[in-house]
Amino acid sequence: MNTPSPDTSPDSPASTVAPTPGVPESDPRAPHVVVVGGGPGGYEAALVARRLGARVTVVERQGLGGAAVLTDVVPSKTLIATAEWFTTAEQGPELGVRGDAPAGERRDLVDLKAVNARVLALADAQSRDIHARLEREGVAVVAGTGRLDGPSRVLVEDASGATTSLDADTVLLAVGATPRTLPTAVPDGERILTWTQLYRLTELPERLIVVGSGVTGAEFAGAYQALGSQVVLVSSRDRVLPGEDMDAAELLEGVFRSRGMTVMSRSRAASAERTADGVAVTLSDGRVVEGSHVLIAVGAVPSTTGLGLEEAGVRLSASGHVEVDRVSRTSVPGVYAAGDCTGVLPLASVAATQGRTAMAHALGDAVAPLKLGRVAANIFTAPEIATVGLSEAKLRERGYRYVTTTLPLARNPRAKMLSMRDGFVKLFAHPDAGVVLGGVVVAPRASELIFPITLAVAHRLTVDDVADSFTVYPSLSGSIAEAARVLHGQSGPNATD
Ligand SMILES: Cc1cc2nc3c(=O)[nH]c(=O)nc-3n(C[C@H](O)[C@H](O)[C@H](O)COP(=O)(O)OP(=O)(O)OC[C@H]3O[C@@H](n4cnc5c(N)ncnc54)[C@H](O)[C@@H]3O)c2cc1C
Repeated sequence: MNTPSPDTSPDSPASTVAPTPGVPESDPRAPHVVVVGGGPGGYEAALVARRLGARVTVVERQGLGGAAVLTDVVPSKTLIATAEWFTTAEQGPELGVRGDAPAGERRDLVDLKAVNARVLALADAQSRDIHARLEREGVAVVAGTGRLDGPSRVLVEDASGATTSLDADTVLLAVGATPRTLPTAVPDGERILTWTQLYRLTELPERLIVVGSGVTGAEFAGAYQALGSQVVLVSSRDRVLPGEDMDAAELLEGVFRSRGMTVMSRSRAASAERTADGVAVTLSDGRVVEGSHVLIAVGAVPSTTGLGLEEAGVRLSASGHVEVDRVSRTSVPGVYAAGDCTGVLPLASVAATQGRTAMAHALGDAVAPLKLGRVAANIFTAPEIATVGLSEAKLRERGYRYVTTTLPLARNPRAKMLSMRDGFVKLFAHPDAGVVLGGVVVAPRASELIFPITLAVAHRLTVDDVADSFTVYPSLSGSIAEAARVLHGQSGPNATD
């Protein structure tokens, strides 16, 4: 039996690669895989390639774990863990516990220096653990910046400027992306910030302007509001989280406003500049919003420039992403790409899956093409928003027939005991076959609750399969089975319409 190595599952956002028992010596005749970029797209692929017998080198310029571990997923979710403490404490008085700090007084309770020190220590430890795991598995790790020299050679420049050349049978590009910035709002790391610079702050921003209301903007806006900052969320769209389930986004916007956040819809930020003691953000209609700090969260750009891709014949999209098919092949045989640099879906779990798929394809293992319709995703706000399968917008866009039901969390007995009101469970199913097509859970820890729906979508279970499965009483997951029971009457031979 394989004993799981202690550092994989907690460290890896998506690791499912079992440790290799007793690392085999690299066969010098085995194919050489060179992975450029050591984030989840890269390091997961490296582990799979080793398991499949290849010689593997990972080239990484910043630190193993990539942006996912060092600046994005791990730090943001660790910061949110502290913010959650306050959101939970808010329920205190209702549950008969004294001691919640009113929003205005929270600032004094938060030691941001300690919070950020913990965030960075955790990220650093995870990066080191991933590094150790790769080396233990026999992966060579080379520190430096890689670029293609044709389709089967990678040149690596190290910190001293020295260049080494690596011949490769297979190359995997997993170089990720970096925050998009505006030329009129250049980050200075002190007051005008990208999300990678937030953890350098030693004091909680008094009034934080968040530009951008996508997932990243919404997560940080919610977290800083909970920690005690006044937050102004500037959104160029009609509502926060455009592109997400509309009911979930509306609910979250309502929660944000009820917590005292200022949400400015249809407001496009044109520029940001420093003032004597803070920042001023000018909107495209001329209005000016003042704050102590501004976070620019307007998306990311792929790290694909200067990589020698065009010269090697690797096709890029207009946005600079590497074009890949569902098994992660680029336009050049032997060159694969995974993760945020492909623009397929910016999630650590998708990056890891693309990387694993690429290696299986390149090294002749069984390959399952990427199925985006099965991806589960979560927005770590309070409440969280978890989704899986086809969204309602996609179902409509594709003209699919479907039945749906939404059960408010407020009706769930466990939610009542926990004093949870904001949230719901929504399911979509095929009207004839009753097969579950997708779902949305809006609730605290929705990221944990979505899994039964993910199983249903992945294995084409019907609403009756879900409804007939026991749930614990009382439990939040009871609402998932209950929603399936409601759909039992609306789908299949039982349909009443
Ligand atoms: C704030 C924030 C929070 C997020 N939270 C979540 C979440 O909760 N869950 C989730 O699933 N996703 C989350 N994401 C998305 C997730 O971070 C990305 O999808 C994931 O990091 C993509 O992995 P990757 O391997 O493609 O790239 P990365 O993690 O960006 O890694 C790429 C690596 O390549 C290296 N590199 C780049 N160019 C070179 C080069 N030329 N030579 C050598 N090395 C190079 C970089 O240094 C980097 O280490 C979040 C994103 C952000 C911005």
